[in-house]
Amino acid sequence: MSATNPNIMNTPASSRREIRQLDDAAANRIAAGEVVERPASAIKELIENALDAEATRIDVAYADGGKTLIRVSDDGYGIPPDQLALALSRHATSKIDGSDLLNIHTFGFRGEALPSMGAVGRLTITSRASGGDAAATVSVSGGVAGSVKPAALSKGTVVELRDLFHATPARLKFLRTDRSEAQAISEVVKRLAMAEPFVGFTLRDLTGGGEGRVTFRVEPQTGDLFDALHSRLARILGRDFAGNALKIDAEREGIALTGYASLPTYSRGSAVAQYMFVNGRPVKDKTFIGAIRGAYSDFLHRNRYPALALFLECDPTLVDVNVHPAKSEVRFRDPGIVRGLIVSALRHALAGAGHQASTTVSDAALGAFRPEDRPVAPVYQMETRPSRAALQSVFEVQQPGFQEVSTAFSGRVEPGAPEAVDEALSQERPLGAARAQVHENYIVAQTRDGVVIVDQHAAHERLVYERLKAQVRENGVASQALLIPEIVDLPEEQHGLILSASKELASLGLVFEDFGGTAICVRETPAILGEVNAEAMVRDICDELLDLDQTQTVKDRIEAILSRVACHGSIRSGRMMRAEEMNALLREMEATPHSGQCNHGRPTYVELKLSDIERLFGRR
Ligand code: ADP
Ligand code: MG
Repeated sequence: MSATNPNIMNTPASSRREIRQLDDAAANRIAAGEVVERPASAIKELIENALDAEATRIDVAYADGGKTLIRVSDDGYGIPPDQLALALSRHATSKIDGSDLLNIHTFGFRGEALPSMGAVGRLTITSRASGGDAAATVSVSGGVAGSVKPAALSKGTVVELRDLFHATPARLKFLRTDRSEAQAISEVVKRLAMAEPFVGFTLRDLTGGGEGRVTFRVEPQTGDLFDALHSRLARILGRDFAGNALKIDAEREGIALTGYASLPTYSRGSAVAQYMFVNGRPVKDKTFIGAIRGAYSDFLHRNRYPALALFLECDPTLVDVNVHPAKSEVRFRDPGIVRGLIVSALRHALAGAGHQASTTVSDAALGAFRPEDRPVAPVYQMETRPSRAALQSVFEVQQPGFQEVSTAFSGRVEPGAPEAVDEALSQERPLGAARAQVHENYIVAQTRDGVVIVDQHAAHERLVYERLKAQVRENGVASQALLIPEIVDLPEEQHGLILSASKELASLGLVFEDFGGTAICVRETPAILGEVNAEAMVRDICDELLDLDQTQTVKDRIEAILSRVACHGSIRSGRMMRAEEMNALLREMEATPHSGQCNHGRPTYVELKLSDIERLFGRR
């Protein structure tokens, strides 16, 4: 290639090896390559400057995906006229004095953003320092600054960046379409707005001139931090997220973790809705990603991802943010503590959620029922909460008419005993009293203010799994001997794999020995499962062993295996259940953590409030 490059060919060899000091303009252009990669990264730097200046309102505007114009205005403390020129020079910052690079409390500290932008675009800064009596403005283009002039501005700072990369056409070519650049801008603004609920943000698209179009707006929130954050997340991630998010608030060794994380039943097919922040800085970090996966591994299939916004706050000396010029990567001094904190905080919150399944489950169910645009007939008004007498009468289902109707849909109706009514009305029995089993798999229960439908197979599977885990924590899983040992012939690689795990599996209640060739002889199975198909279970466990990631912790591996084992002991759909059995199942679900979803993250029950049912019938 170089043989055909005329520039290199024409340069004498001696001068090619000469070491030169680059001038400032060249140094700034090089730095700009890292700091200002695209319009969105320029906007990120400008918003961070505004936040460092304690702004409470930040307005962002752009045109043509930010390629022709970017403007960020704030009401922060501003820059005095005599320092404007300095703000534009390289490594000039008011935020650190350079003596301690590990103790950084501001977003900025490198003093690179403004000079970099001035090197690759036409930059104008207009600012009025708080307490100052006049505003001033300065422009820089292609790295050459003009003089500081008086200007009109009542408060704060306006930074305008026009024609980004006009001086470096090669960089311009790397930009994507206006639409995808605008998309990236919107993501940056929303991400920063999540971390700063007390600051108001506006995003405006000025393409085509005029006032432009507001594409995003959030008012500054007030009140308690958690309330403010919850409202802000509802605006950005949606009401659904907010309604299905658990509050996270934990601390370990001086490191605090706060935020909101979704119930397992509200999950996504990729990590798109996972937002992590360290000391307010949006980060992409492997410690976080691994810890989140670990915390949810028990509730979610490997290819499902919870939605969450997590904020880690720690002494700045415990985390190095100076790993990358865009500051999106961090390095923790002790990643183990951070991982432990995230896993335990998320698990604790999930355990606290108990049997709760996400509201989107019943919303989805209602959505499926509800005909579009159906006029609501003003029938007669009904109280939201039915009186005890009203409920009692619903329970008296012995009337022949009702009984007939009930059995007609192949359900089984249990007589309404007075205790069942008390149970149904009690706060401590959120899953109510079992009223019927339909289609041999669904338990219909009446609660204080609605109806619950339980998938008996999914629920039982979860309960067995939780019981198995409890046994592992205590003395290991109790096993029972098979009357006739079962010989299972396996593919060669599975045979080796399962033999190498035989000790681990014995502690999980599966006892077997090598039977020669590629067969094993199964002697004992977990007692809790009752009678099982040992061969099917062994094959399932082999699949799981093959599937398991060898880097997973022993605990994670055991849980993955137990989850498979649990399927084998579960009440299969199709099994008739007596009233006591059904009620016992409901009571155990209430007492068991995580019983709101099965081992694969599907809900185990759906709840319809009476008010929802009334809406279905047009009574509300
Ligand atoms: P850094 O943020 O790393 O200090 P910048 O180049 O982004 O470097 O900014 C240089 C300096 O200009 C900052 O240290 C700050 O004093 C001042 N500055 C920049 N933007 C603003 C703003 N919006 N409000 C007040 N001061 C600002
Ligand atoms: Mg900065």
